[in-house]
Amino acid sequence: MELERLGLLMHEWVRELVVRLTPEAMVWPEGLGEPAVSDWHEPLQFHHTMTFRGARPETVTPAEMGQRAGEALAAAGWAVEEEVTEAHLVTGRRDGVVIRIRISVISDVVLYQARTPSIAFYTPEVFVKPEPVRTLDTLSRGYVLCYECDGLGWCSSCWGRGWVPDVERGRRRCRECHQDRVCPICRGAGEKHAATLQYYERGHYPELSEE
Ligand SMILES: [Zn+2]
Ligand SMILES: [Zn+2]
Repeated sequence: MELERLGLLMHEWVRELVVRLTPEAMVWPEGLGEPAVSDWHEPLQFHHTMTFRGARPETVTPAEMGQRAGEALAAAGWAVEEEVTEAHLVTGRRDGVVIRIRISVISDVVLYQARTPSIAFYTPEVFVKPEPVRTLDTLSRGYVLCYECDGLGWCSSCWGRGWVPDVERGRRRCRECHQDRVCPICRGAGEKHAATLQYYERGHYPELSEE
């Protein structure tokens, strides 16, 4: 898969740079791991990111290290940008993968940050509202349909997804069920026991008060 290929390219190159620039690192960059969601709008997009912190050997100046990083990346076909601000920054770009190396000039910290481009895994399916768990025909004996969800059982705001679409962020946690996903009144049963209804709940069922 394309995202995995790019993730492995990113990982291989961060590791390569760590080996070349800060080889005394006691901890090595971990494996690639699972991609993370980078955009919650449908269709969801994923990317790989990594951050690794190394230490610059005393014998190498920040400028020398920046130069070495840039040369190593350029030799392997990365487009390289170098910038000196409050630190030496070297940025390499290849196939949409970005690796940024920040070499501090006031300490020995060398920070590697990298990410792949964001890629959608699938085309979104049209969401189908779930069927109610109870209907008038399937009610348990002595029960009435839940007055909140009318038998749906699922939260009637998010329809059991735990989130609702959000224009800005793609998704927003459902405020109605707080991600429980089920109706807060019947807890997913879709029905209520008629004999144990609270007084205020009976108001939803005028037919019961005639008994
Ligand atoms: Zn309910
Ligand atoms: Zn909900």
